[in-house]
Amino acid sequence: MSVHPTVGGPAIAQQRHLVTEIPGPISRKLLARRQASVARGLSHVLPVFVTAAGGGVLIDADGNSLIDFGSGIAVTSVGNSAELVVTRVTEQVAQFTHTCFMVVPYEGYVQVCEELNRVTPGSHDKRSALFNSGAEAVENAVKIARHATGRQAVVVFDHAYHGRTNLTMAMTAKNMPYKDGFGPFAGEVYRVPMAYPFRWPGGPARCAAEALDVVTGLIHAQVGEHRVAAVVIEPIQGEGGFIVPPDGFLPGLAGYCREHGIVFIADEIQSGFCRTGDWFACDHEAVVPDLVTTAKGIAGGLPLAAVTGRADIMDSVQAGGLGGTYGGNPVACAAALGAIETMTKEDLPAAARRVGEVMLPRLRDLARRYPVIGDVRGRGAMLAIELVKPGTIEPDAAATSAVARACHAAGLILLTCGTHGNVLRFLPPLVISPDLLDEGMGILDDAFGQLPS
Ligand SMILES: *Cc1c(COP(=O)(O)O)cnc(C)c1O
Repeated sequence: MSVHPTVGGPAIAQQRHLVTEIPGPISRKLLARRQASVARGLSHVLPVFVTAAGGGVLIDADGNSLIDFGSGIAVTSVGNSAELVVTRVTEQVAQFTHTCFMVVPYEGYVQVCEELNRVTPGSHDKRSALFNSGAEAVENAVKIARHATGRQAVVVFDHAYHGRTNLTMAMTAKNMPYKDGFGPFAGEVYRVPMAYPFRWPGGPARCAAEALDVVTGLIHAQVGEHRVAAVVIEPIQGEGGFIVPPDGFLPGLAGYCREHGIVFIADEIQSGFCRTGDWFACDHEAVVPDLVTTAKGIAGGLPLAAVTGRADIMDSVQAGGLGGTYGGNPVACAAALGAIETMTKEDLPAAARRVGEVMLPRLRDLARRYPVIGDVRGRGAMLAIELVKPGTIEPDAAATSAVARACHAAGLILLTCGTHGNVLRFLPPLVISPDLLDEGMGILDDAFGQLPS
């Protein structure tokens, strides 16, 4: 048993250890209080109340140690309470907590923007702006693209997820639970098919050949290229099912946007910051977006988000046109500097590739033994399996939630996703130990073994 983490954080034994059922009595008591005080609209994957976390382990109020395959939705890639995040945040919080960057600036904000300009794809002249949440970053990227182009239309994809604010709900594909009952939605948002190999009509091979033609044909016929301010795409889709477009699709799309003066926006909020084995998913094919949105993995768990991109586009907005009271809060900036330093020093892109090298063969082996697994996909430490009725591509959401529930009961935090709720996604912290990864995969295997055959 190792006491992790190599990169700091609380010295929490890196092991799974259950002392009660899940959730245990203390968590159940807290859950009753939660139900009497917190709105029902907020749900939980696993209702255990956390008291400490580090490396690949979360400890709950009943003293159970759980394996973390979720990272708080791809956020704590550097681990919970990573050493450099804790030291920088602690120093900053004792110095000052807020001035509002729009009132009086501070160096930390500038440093984070310098780092973002450096690590995001492309070596061109860039500017960044900081916000609080991913949705806010996406909203601002659209504002900036509209301002820079003088155009209004925004093109998004099937299975897209961009957030829960009014504009980003309109951009998000899935109705239940994200949109249902929350309209009317923002206008001038147009949806086109995603290059989704597993579900492409006519099969994966034709997806690579046809998807770009279908997308650009629809934009031409139904929107008009000259009306399009931005095409917004997750280079690997997150909530929509960890959908990886075939090689060539993203470079083709970026080239098409360039040709028509459309701002190409990569939403790297889930796929960014080393998760896929590169700093950004776009790096895999050397795609250089005009604007990149980031959040989630950026700051080791503190709320921070950003838009980074071409200086001419970013600086087209008048002074005062962007901002927000808390955006780029000094404590969140300190956390981001600690997280980015950790990613660089510990070479977390390589760590993500190693996670993939352990997990991917295990997932492929599961797929050979359990025909309910129709597809295995992803890159680095952003992996997923899609569950179907065997021999078909009909989604099997019931089997998906049964497997997830069995994993939860055994002390493995595992997330689902997908427009049809039939995808199990794997997002372990990039600093997770190989032993824990292995143990988590064993639990997953057992969970499939428990499915009625
Ligand atoms: C999570 C997510 C968002 C929204 O981020 P919030 O911080 O929850 O507002 C936007 N885009 C993608 C791709 C995401 O995964």
